[in-house]
Amino acid sequence: MTDEQRRERNFLADTGAVLKGMATVFKQTFRPDDTEEYPKVIAEIPERAHTGRHRLNRHDNGLEKCIGCELCAFACPADAIWVEGEDNDPEHPTSPGERYAKDYQINYLRCIMCGLCVEACPTRALTLTSYFEMAYTSREDAILTKEQLLEPPPELGTTPGAKEGL
Ligand code: SF4
Ligand code: SF4
Repeated sequence: MTDEQRRERNFLADTGAVLKGMATVFKQTFRPDDTEEYPKVIAEIPERAHTGRHRLNRHDNGLEKCIGCELCAFACPADAIWVEGEDNDPEHPTSPGERYAKDYQINYLRCIMCGLCVEACPTRALTLTSYFEMAYTSREDAILTKEQLLEPPPELGTTPGAKEGL
């Protein structure tokens, strides 16, 4: 191949690369926006996307499923869970087991949403919800108590502070 032929081949290759790049730019320039206007619009979450706040569940008769075994706390790689178990009062049990969680807290400044605590729970007392609006303005607010975790999370878009983001 002569120098002339090599130059011609390089020129064609470079021109092709530039045209390809320009085509990509034009394609992206006129592509419709795919912006999620959160919190004005809450994007639909896949039905099984349980990647939000935890919930402590109850049995149908109102007793707490949590038996205070602390397995979730041991499984947590981020040391985000605090459980203090205590023996049930036989006359007025809190859970069906011998023990119940006297205190239960999850620190969402530590939690990485890995779900290992849910996997470790032998009674399905602990599950993840799809509630992802978890911005806090103080450290105290980021630590959810047992009473808070026993309640269902609020509807998405109703969190205090969400409206300010509009
Ligand atoms: S989801 Fe993971 S990091 Fe969060 S509390 Fe459970 S085990 Fe810990
Ligand atoms: S949530 Fe489950 S694993 Fe954690 S203390 Fe309660 S019963 Fe045990």
